[in-house]
Amino acid sequence: MHLSEILIHHGEDRSAYFNAISPPIIQTSNFAFPDLAQFRAAFSDELTHHVYSRGNNPTVEILRKKLAALEKTEDALVFSSGAGAIAAAVIGNVAAGDHIVCQQSPYSWTTALLRKFLARFGVSHTFVDGTDVRHIAAAIRPETKVLYLESPNTMTYECQDLRACAELAQQHGIVTMIDNSYCSPLYQNPAEFGIDIVLHSGTKYINGHSDVVMGVLCGSKAMVKKIFESELMTLGGVVSPSDAALVIRGLRTLPLRVKQSETGAQFLISKLENHPKVAKIWYPFHDSFPQKELAMRQMRGCGGLFSVDFKTDSMEKMEQFIHRIERFLMAVSWGGHESLMIPTIGFYNVPGRTNPPMPWTFVRFYAGLEDPEWLWEDLERALEVL
Ligand SMILES: *Cc1c(COP(=O)(O)O)cnc(C)c1O
Repeated sequence: MHLSEILIHHGEDRSAYFNAISPPIIQTSNFAFPDLAQFRAAFSDELTHHVYSRGNNPTVEILRKKLAALEKTEDALVFSSGAGAIAAAVIGNVAAGDHIVCQQSPYSWTTALLRKFLARFGVSHTFVDGTDVRHIAAAIRPETKVLYLESPNTMTYECQDLRACAELAQQHGIVTMIDNSYCSPLYQNPAEFGIDIVLHSGTKYINGHSDVVMGVLCGSKAMVKKIFESELMTLGGVVSPSDAALVIRGLRTLPLRVKQSETGAQFLISKLENHPKVAKIWYPFHDSFPQKELAMRQMRGCGGLFSVDFKTDSMEKMEQFIHRIERFLMAVSWGGHESLMIPTIGFYNVPGRTNPPMPWTFVRFYAGLEDPEWLWEDLERALEVL
């Protein structure tokens, strides 16, 4: 199916709602049955019938159909956050005594899920440097049930060879899953390489307007049904119909937004790489990136996240530089309309926190939808203090 078909039409049955162009927000918790035959049919399969909105809601269902088509999987589920989708996928595939192999630097709350949460239920894990599949192979044990990937991650962008990981896991009967938020479904479809479950923070590019927190889980019909009947229905982290409608609207412009963000990032990188105060740039498609060849092989594009290490030996100057930047908001998250930055120096010397592995000269940037020249003007002016 063409991307345009998916984003503009797929999953939308206008004849069911007065031929309205925009799908209605079916703001209901509950659905009534006209007769016992329909009542019975619905309870035989709550995933495809309308029984109760913790299960299946028509507005949410439109979004699920679009997301499955975008990731080229049979079905998809949506959750009330990316963390919720990740937790459901992992928990749904392990039991006490099982083991998980995870690439070494996933999203922070994924780390917490394995280290703090699942450890309490007797599920163990090994974090490995996933840049070489041999490290992953060496970590697999007889009780390993899940291989968890995030390629690229969203700070330093290490990649895993998705095809090699999928083949290795299949040999051992291990379920593979990946956090694909960095690429969005536009630039990487891990199912094409044999990965079983594709996860997203829908909060980022998929919604794209910094007004909804949502998560996505894509996979086979059997995997989606299993997680629907267990983790989604019991833990209940569902998306409201009104949030689903906002995300359907956000998706309409996914290619326009991601491409603009990517154009912005690449323009800023082209300026920064020649600047005397820049020590290093992290971006999967950049010439200096150690895994550029792998990234270009499995990704169709690279998006708007990149990181920079600046040259200064003064923490004071680094702080002045950060405070001078006006057009990148200092904030977590990314993937919305607005440009953002996370300066690592903000995590240094915080009471009760260990300093991060990145130096305090490191800044993670996200280029939003603004004119890249206007963004550069701001950075260039701020750089004068370094
Ligand atoms: C934000 C993010 C998450 C978590 O998603 P939420 O929607 O905030 O729960 C997971 N993975 C990555 C890579 C993220 O950037």
